[in-house]
Amino acid sequence: MLTAIVGTNWGDEGKGRMVDLLSQAYDVVVRYQGGNNAGHTVVNERGKFILNLLPSGILREETVNVMGPGMVIDLEHLMGEVSRLREGGITISPANLKISDRATICMPYHKLLDILEEERLGDKKFGSTRRGISPVYADKYMKKTLRMGDLRHWDALEERLQDLVEWKNLTVEKGYGHAPIQSQALLQWLQTYGLPFLDYVCDTTEYLTQAEAQGRRILFEAQLGALRDIDFGIYPYTSASSTIAAYAPIGSGIPQCKLDNVIGIMKAYSSCVGEGPFTCEFFGQEADQLRQAGGEYGAATGRPRRVGGFDVVASRYGVQMQGCTSLALTKLDVLSYLDKIPVCVAYEVDGQTVTHFPQGVELAKAKPVYEYLPGFGCDISHCKSAEEMPQAAMNYIRYLESAVGCPIEYVSVGPERDQYFKLF
Ligand code: GDP
Repeated sequence: MLTAIVGTNWGDEGKGRMVDLLSQAYDVVVRYQGGNNAGHTVVNERGKFILNLLPSGILREETVNVMGPGMVIDLEHLMGEVSRLREGGITISPANLKISDRATICMPYHKLLDILEEERLGDKKFGSTRRGISPVYADKYMKKTLRMGDLRHWDALEERLQDLVEWKNLTVEKGYGHAPIQSQALLQWLQTYGLPFLDYVCDTTEYLTQAEAQGRRILFEAQLGALRDIDFGIYPYTSASSTIAAYAPIGSGIPQCKLDNVIGIMKAYSSCVGEGPFTCEFFGQEADQLRQAGGEYGAATGRPRRVGGFDVVASRYGVQMQGCTSLALTKLDVLSYLDKIPVCVAYEVDGQTVTHFPQGVELAKAKPVYEYLPGFGCDISHCKSAEEMPQAAMNYIRYLESAVGCPIEYVSVGPERDQYFKLF
């Protein structure tokens, strides 16, 4: 069985927590795109863990975790993440972590270029996480990066790095006027942070093809949401990778396989990190209250997130692009402080009401059309079934389901592993 877990919105929908929960039923968890530019927060009996690069299944000893060829890996960050988890008592070995030999290495100069470009842009900055993600994906498609498998062939790697550094300095030194990057320092970096992972590097295509043939249950875990996808998101305020479910088999190394299920993680309200159009945005006190109630501060960067009411237009589009077969609704408990629940049901663009998700300039001009549903006004974080839920909360769930056109299978009412229930 092949299942993808993906975000239906701008990211931070609580995917980490749902993967942690659902991974119990799977043998293998795979990350198929992105790097350490986003964070998953998982709370379990051993504590609170923030995962940027590692698949969420790493917190379960019996689960095998795969970092696929679609990923970009900052080795220094990976080393830090692995060390922190080990300090928290988590076992990480080549038996439970497999890194694709085709995954791209995100080098320190990618991070540097990200920072240099954001600084050059000044007021027009993209709100990049400055982790080097766009520069490294750009280089990947220029076919000028190192991959994890290159660590196995040190002499060839040294030679290739020399060429890459010469080429990079055309931009770093001659373009941005920054001190040139040095291949010696980069070799040292690769030695310190890359070589310890040599035993983890393998052909994930071979591993996953076999696992699939043996009937093992495989879960694909996305980072960021549909609206951050490079092709289908709010370009150019997107990530540089493909966040949608259709890319999961490719980014994992098994393009020949088809997904059986796509579970979309959808938050009961909206949040967005960084710049770009966010039509349903709240401001002032309304925003502060929701941000505080939901603890909406970036897991990777600590930045306060922009927040708003549930956005039907954006979510319906996200659910469709992901090809969701069912949904997990998260953070419903956060809305318990509201007398009436705001829902953005349509956009107004140039005086016209639109219900499809617009692109580019149209999207930037869109204004929200808000409607209100009755609030439930009580703590629901202990609810274990639909029957235990207040009617107003169930009405909200049913409303969302029909608005986005996909059944809600799971409802999460708190960050702890058991604070959820199933609707079917
Ligand atoms: P991700 O990147 O999609 O995993 O999202 P985040 O890292 O932003 O995780 C969402 C945050 O909300 C984490 O701190 C979770 O522990 C927390 N969280 C997840 N689900 C729920 C929920 O249903 N209720 C509440 N109150 N918190 C939740």
